[in-house]
Amino acid sequence: MLIAIDGPSGSGKSTTAKLLARRLGLGYLDTGAMYRAATTEYLRRYPEGASADDVATLVEEAELVCDTTPDAPCFSINGHDVTEEIREPRVSASVSILATNLEVRRLLTAMMRDIIAQHERDIVVEGRDITTVVAPDADVRVLLIADPDARVARRAAEVEGRATAAEVTDQVLRRDRDDSTVSNFTDAAEGVTVIDSTFLSPDEVVDAIIALTPSR
Ligand code: C5P
Repeated sequence: MLIAIDGPSGSGKSTTAKLLARRLGLGYLDTGAMYRAATTEYLRRYPEGASADDVATLVEEAELVCDTTPDAPCFSINGHDVTEEIREPRVSASVSILATNLEVRRLLTAMMRDIIAQHERDIVVEGRDITTVVAPDADVRVLLIADPDARVARRAAEVEGRATAAEVTDQVLRRDRDDSTVSNFTDAAEGVTVIDSTFLSPDEVVDAIIALTPSR
C-alpha cells in the first residue's frame, strides 16, 4: 500500500501521514525533511551561498540517512544528526534554494524512489511532487489543502515561539510561492483526490484517506 500525499506548508501533511502510517502499520517518509537535511549541510558548508552546481554536487556526495518510522523519525547527513536542526527557522528560510535546484530535485527524487522500493511500497510518502513525479503510480494519491490563515496558524503552533509572526508567514506563504515555480502542489493531477483540511481534525483527514484505500 503506497500512499502519496502532496500539499502546501501547514496543510497538515506530516501530522496526517504519521497518523495514517501508524493506523495502517506502514512506513512514513517525510520528504521535506530530506530537503531540510540537505539544507543544513549547505548552510554549514556555504554560509556565503554557492553556485547551483556546487549545491547539486553537495547533495550528490552527501550521505543522507532517513528514518522511516512514524514516531519522531531521525535524519542525519554526513554523520551529523540533524533531526532537531532541520526545524530551525534559518533552515526553513533557506530550503527553497535547494528545492528550486532541478538537479537537487532529480537526486532526491531518485533517493525517495529507492526508499519506497526498500519498503516494498508499504509506506506513506508526503511532500510535493509525490503524487505526480515521485510516485504517480501510488495506490492512493491525495492533495491536502487548507486556507492560508489556517496554514499560518498551524505552523505558528508548531514552532511554538521559536519564530516571529513575520517569520512564520514568510515560512508558509513566501516559501510556497518560491516552491511553486518548480513543483505543483495546488492543482490536483488526474486521479488525485483533493481533501480540504481547514475544518477537519487530523483523525477526520486520516479517515477520509483510509476511505480511499483499496482493500488489501
Ligand atoms: O514539508 P516541509 O515544510 O518540511 O518542506 C520543506 C521544503 O522542502 C518545502 O518548502 C519545499 O521547498 C521542499 N520540498 C520539496 N519537495 C518535496 C518536499 C519538500 O520541494 N517533496
